[in-house]
Amino acid sequence: MSVQDFELLETRELDELNSTGRIYRHATGARVVSIANPQDENKVFGITFRTPPTDSTGLPHILEHSVLCGSRKFPVKEPFVELLKGSLKTFLNAFTYPDKTCYPVASQSQQDFYNLVDVYLDAVFHPRLTPEVLKQEGWHYEVDEEGTLSYKGVVFNEMKGANSSPERVMAEHCQQVLFPETTYGVDSGGHPQAIPDLTWEQFESFHQDYYHPSNAWIWFYGDDPEDRRLEILDEYLSEFDTRSADSSVALQSRWSEPKTIEETYSVSEQDVDDDGGKCMVAVNWLLGEAADYETRLGLQILDYILIGTSASPLRKALIDSGLGEDLTGGGMETELREIFFSVGLKGVAQEDEKRVEALVIETLESLARDGIDQETIRASLNTVEFRLRENNTGSYPRGLILMLRSLSRWLYDEDPFVPLTFEKPLADVKALGESDTGYFEGLIRDHLLGNSHRATVFLRPDAEHAAREEETERQRLAGVVAHEQLHRLELARDEAAAPPPFKPLHVPLLP
Ligand SMILES: [Zn+2]
Repeated sequence: MSVQDFELLETRELDELNSTGRIYRHATGARVVSIANPQDENKVFGITFRTPPTDSTGLPHILEHSVLCGSRKFPVKEPFVELLKGSLKTFLNAFTYPDKTCYPVASQSQQDFYNLVDVYLDAVFHPRLTPEVLKQEGWHYEVDEEGTLSYKGVVFNEMKGANSSPERVMAEHCQQVLFPETTYGVDSGGHPQAIPDLTWEQFESFHQDYYHPSNAWIWFYGDDPEDRRLEILDEYLSEFDTRSADSSVALQSRWSEPKTIEETYSVSEQDVDDDGGKCMVAVNWLLGEAADYETRLGLQILDYILIGTSASPLRKALIDSGLGEDLTGGGMETELREIFFSVGLKGVAQEDEKRVEALVIETLESLARDGIDQETIRASLNTVEFRLRENNTGSYPRGLILMLRSLSRWLYDEDPFVPLTFEKPLADVKALGESDTGYFEGLIRDHLLGNSHRATVFLRPDAEHAAREEETERQRLAGVVAHEQLHRLELARDEAAAPPPFKPLHVPLLP
């Protein structure tokens, strides 16, 4: 064992969590946060890689599926399924985000926990990646009985399904439109039209570059002995050298003028005829990094003030307007490097689209001008405070929620403990919010109304949308068939010319 390969960078008492947190750096560059909480037996481990995609082929998502298809120590095809059957786990999953891929496990049994950690470490660092795995999990050609060629694949099919949901299509447009210059401007899950562009070479090198200790953020939490955590990690990490693959996430440059985009989503002819009110409208702002935690917390509370409950003023104004059926837009998104805010309505008639956009802005203007009701502010502060403190995290283990919260800053090389130690900034925001200084009104002015990096997305139903996408796909497949036929003709010609048997294919013809 060489636990000395870990340098202890910092130890901090995390009073909010009744825990002690330690930050380590392994000789390979791997970052480790180890949280000892003697009161929580629900132990959590997670390994996260920063995996910013440069296109919408879904590479990070397909890789996430693929590493769970067998590894060096566990060559069975589906160790995942076997684990699910045999383990005492309280959580076991993997998530692809727009810029990271997380592999978390949790268990209350120590032995089971370390088994799961072992399986996950082996899976991410030594997966049995082959072109066949890429075909199965990503995409491949299939020929039916009539001889028609089509695309298939686990992620290809999954994303076809996902893209038939107007909500998902809307959410992707809202994010992508704000970040045209960064990794957030592409679809990390994969767009069905882009997935077949992914090659084996890209797939293999993405794993080599990014699934490396130098690009890993590793998290331990719970009541298990910390030495054992480092031992099991070192078994894997010590096989690697240091490496410097650049996975940093760029900042989006700011616009001086707001934008508008018009997009369509797929509906059946029938649905378009039923009623015209199926448009979606969302107004989106890029708020930037807001690196100080107090402002981040302030913005999260502002989100709750504006749209958190049915009585929240922005939600109420939108619903009561009768312009649409329900809210759309995800509110304040704080899990990426830069924060953005997205709000609007779905079920809108096309002639009312502009009125929705105007209503969002007018409502914010009147809140900034006339002030937000103090009772709404107080109730929102209490709710957010309760949520930060509560131990009930639904079906998710507490240590996992804390890991995701920590990663919201840690992944961008900031202090992993800041998002976990909320008492001081929360007290500051409460004092500001409850004073009569117009703190939240100021946030609306500075971050939303006075912010020209704004984009409105109009998403309209279109019965031709699916047909257009199918036609593009059909033409692409026809191109594949034509290419294949040409290739066969070339082979036949070359054979007819009786070349030497060792002659490689596609030798350029010399004059
Ligand atoms: Zn998936």
